[in-house]
Amino acid sequence: PLILGIESSCDETGVGIVRGNELLANEVASSVEQHVRFGGVVPEVASRAHLEAMVPALERALATADVDLSELDGIAVTAGPGLMGALVVGLASAKALAAYTNKPLYGLNHLAGHVAVDLLDHGSLPTPAGALLVSGGHTELLVVNDIATDIVQVGGTIDDAAGEAYDKVARVLGLPYPGGPVIDKAAQLGDPKAIRFPRGLTTRKDLEKHRFDYSFSGLKTAVSRWVETRERDGLDVPLNDVAASFQEAACDVLTAKAVDLCEHHGLTHFLIGGGVAANSRLRGLLEERMAAAGVELRRPRPGLCTDNGAMIAVLGSEVVKKGGKPSSMDIGANSGLPISTILV
Ligand code: ATP
Ligand code: MG
Ligand code: FE
Repeated sequence: PLILGIESSCDETGVGIVRGNELLANEVASSVEQHVRFGGVVPEVASRAHLEAMVPALERALATADVDLSELDGIAVTAGPGLMGALVVGLASAKALAAYTNKPLYGLNHLAGHVAVDLLDHGSLPTPAGALLVSGGHTELLVVNDIATDIVQVGGTIDDAAGEAYDKVARVLGLPYPGGPVIDKAAQLGDPKAIRFPRGLTTRKDLEKHRFDYSFSGLKTAVSRWVETRERDGLDVPLNDVAASFQEAACDVLTAKAVDLCEHHGLTHFLIGGGVAANSRLRGLLEERMAAAGVELRRPRPGLCTDNGAMIAVLGSEVVKKGGKPSSMDIGANSGLPISTILV
C-alpha cells in the first residue's frame, strides 16, 4: 500500500510516504533550535511550529515521492502519546487531508512507529521478536508478536527515560539541549572506565521484582553529585570522561536486560528504536552482546531513530496489510496512549 504518514507528537513535524517497506519521502522539520534556550521542549512553541511547518513538509514530501494525493491508499497519523497541543496539529491536518481526498484515516501509536521504522531498512520482521524502545519520553522492553496488532510491554523505566537522562546529564555538564547527540560525541573522546557510575536495578534483590525494568534517576543524581564535588574541591571536570562513564553505565544496563529478555523468552530477533537508538555506544555494545547470545540484531539507520513521518507511514502500511479498520474521523489525541494500542 501507498501510505502517507504524519508525525507531530513532540518537536519534529514529519511527513513521510512509503510504498510497503519502501521509503519514498521523509520530510522532517524540527523546531529544536527554538527550544534550546529553554533547555527543553516548550509545548506552546512546538505547537505553533507544527502549524507553520506542516503544509510545506507535506508539499515537499509529495514532490519528492512524485506522488499525487489521489494515488494514496491511506493517511496515517500519530494519535499519541506525546504533547497534546502538538498532537492535535498533526491529527487535524490528517483528518483534513483524509476528508479532502476521501481516503481512510489511521490514527496510530507513535511508539509502535519507532519500532516499525526498521522495516524500511531491513524488511519484514520475523516474530516474535524482542524490542528496546529508547527515546526522550520512554524506555521500554517489548515483545513484538505482530508489528501491526500485538506488541506487549514486558518492562520499562520506573523513573526517567534514557533520553531524559542524557538530556539532564548534558545540562549538568553545561552542554546544550538535546543532550543525547552531544554526550555521544564527547563520550567518544573519553574513558568509559574513568568513573564507576551506578547501574540501576541490577542488584540481586532489584532483579527479583524488576528483572526487565530500568531506572536512570539514580545514575543522573550520581553524575551530578560527582560533578558538584569536583567543582566544590576546585578541581576541573573531565567532561569527556564523565560523558563516557555515564554513557557506559546507561548502555551497560540497557543492553544487559535486552539480552536477558531474549534469553528468557527464547527470542531469536531483536530490534531497537527511538532517539537513543541512534547512540553509537548502545548500537555497538548491543551488537557485541546480541551476537554473543546468538540473537540477530536489527538497527534502523540513526537518521530514522528520531521522530519522523516515515515511521508512521510504514506502520500504517503494516496496519493496512493486516486489514486494520480505518479510524473514525472523530478520534482524539491521547497524550498517554500505551504501546498496547497500536491503532486507535
Ligand atoms: P517519545 O518518542 O518517547 O515520545 P521523543 O519523541 O521526544 O520521545 P525521540 O525523538 O524518539 O524522543 O528521541 C529524542 C531523544 O533521543 C532525546 O532525549 C535525545 O537526547 C536522544 N538522542 C538523540 N540522539 C542520541 C544519541 N546519539 N545518543 C543518545 N541519545 C540520543
Ligand atoms: Mg524531538
Ligand atoms: Fe519519539
